[in-house]
Amino acid sequence: MGNDPLEENENIMDIREWLLQAGKTRLYDISNWDSRGEWAGWDTNGIPDGLTHQKNHLIDFLEGSSPEHRHIRDSWAWGTTGTYTTAAGYKALQSTRNNSHAPTFWKAVWDNLALPKVNFFFWTLVHNKLLTGNNLEKRNIAGPHRCELCRSHSETTQHLFLECKFAKETWEHALLDLQIPTFPQSTVAELFDSWNNIYAHSIPYKSFWKKISTAIPKFVCWQIWLARNDQIFNGNRNTPLKVAAKAKALLLEAAQQQYHKEDPQLLPEERRWLCPLEPSPCKIHLVPQTANPKWRIRETEERFTKWWKSKNLTTIFFDGASKGNPGNARAGGVIYSPDDISRDTFYWGLGQKSNNQVEIYGLLKACLITREKGVKEFQAFGDSEILIKKLNVEDLFNNASLNKLLGRLKRIIQEFISFKFYHILRNLNGEADQMANKGCPLLKGQLFINDENFHHLP
Ligand SMILES: [Zn+2]
Repeated sequence: MGNDPLEENENIMDIREWLLQAGKTRLYDISNWDSRGEWAGWDTNGIPDGLTHQKNHLIDFLEGSSPEHRHIRDSWAWGTTGTYTTAAGYKALQSTRNNSHAPTFWKAVWDNLALPKVNFFFWTLVHNKLLTGNNLEKRNIAGPHRCELCRSHSETTQHLFLECKFAKETWEHALLDLQIPTFPQSTVAELFDSWNNIYAHSIPYKSFWKKISTAIPKFVCWQIWLARNDQIFNGNRNTPLKVAAKAKALLLEAAQQQYHKEDPQLLPEERRWLCPLEPSPCKIHLVPQTANPKWRIRETEERFTKWWKSKNLTTIFFDGASKGNPGNARAGGVIYSPDDISRDTFYWGLGQKSNNQVEIYGLLKACLITREKGVKEFQAFGDSEILIKKLNVEDLFNNASLNKLLGRLKRIIQEFISFKFYHILRNLNGEADQMANKGCPLLKGQLFINDENFHHLP
C-alpha cells in the first residue's frame, strides 16, 4: 500500500503521469495566484484535451483544499518530491471552505490508526466529494446514477453508506457483539462525530474503544465503497457479511500494528469481535447426525472422480498439516460447486496445533465458507480416518479439548440440511493437501479465501 493517495486512484492515473512529466508535483504548481499573493483557483491550462475527464476527477478530489500560501511549500505531493503524510493532509484541510466541524473532528479524520489511503478516502467522503451516482449526475457525467448494491434507489452518499439495505446490514454485522450504543445519524459526518465522542458514553471495554473507535466508520465506509466499485466495475457481488468481516480484519490488523506489534496476542474483546463467521448458539437446530454406512471410499482416482461428480452436490475436500505434531500448523481445502463450474479455495494459518486439531479446523473452515454461500447440502472428503469416523459413528476423542472442538464443528454442520463425510486415501486428496501446504509459513489467524487475504483466529 503506497503512501500517495493519488497514486492508486485509477481515475487520475494518466493525468498524474502527465503532471509528473510536466514537472507539476505540488498543488502550488497547478494554482493561480492573484496580485496579493492569494490563491485564486486551479490552473489547468495546458492539460491535453484527451485528459479532460481525468482533469474533472482531479479537480473533484482537490476541491475543498488549496495550497495555503504561495510561499509555503505544500507537500500534497503526487510525485517523487514528497511522501503524502497525514500532517500534510491535515494542513490542506485547514484551508477548507465551509468548514463547520470542530478541529477535533478533523484531527480524528486524519489520525494515525487508519492507513493514509483510508483517511484520504474518508476525508473525500465527509466532504461529499466521492463520485457517487448523484455527484456524477450533478456534473453531467454519464455513469450509474442508481445504487448498484440495492438497485432500487438513486445513489447519494447518504444512501450508499447509511440508508441502503446493504449498508445497514454491513453496519449490523460490523457492530454485532460490541455492546455499544448505536447512534441515529443522518449524515456520515454525524456518524463519525458520534464515534469520535464515544468516550463520553459509559461503555464496556472503554480503553479498547478509545483506541479504535474513529477507525471503525472509516474502515466500514471504505469497504462499502470498494464493494460498490467491485460490483460496478467487475460485476462481483459481495455480501454485507463479507464486507464487514473484511473491514474488521483490516482494522484489527492496523490496530495490532499500532498498539501491540511486539505482543501479537489480541485482547479478548478484539478476539471476540474477530469471529464474525461463528454461529450464535441460539440459531442451532440440533438434528440427529445421520450415519453414513459407507464412509470409507477405496477407489481408483478415475472412478472416484467420476463418482463424486455424479452426485451433483457441493463438494468439500479438506486437509490439515502440522509440522512436528504439534507444530506450525495450517489447514486448507477446495470447495466445488455442484455443477463443477466454480471452486473456492482456502488456506489458514493455525499456529501450534496437533494433527487432529488441524483436520477439524480444516473441515470447520470449509463448512463456514460453504454456509456463507447459502449452500444447504454438501458432501465432504478428507484423509483423516479418525475424524471421518468420529463424524459418522457417534464417538468421541479421548481428549477434552479435541471433543470441545469437535462439538463446535458439529454445531456448524448441523445447520445444514444434508451432509455426508467420506474418508479417502491421501492420493485422492491432492488438491486439499496442496492448499494446506501452500505458500510461505502463514501466521496464526492469516486466512486466504480464493487468495484474498482475511484474518480469522482459529
Ligand atoms: Zn442501495
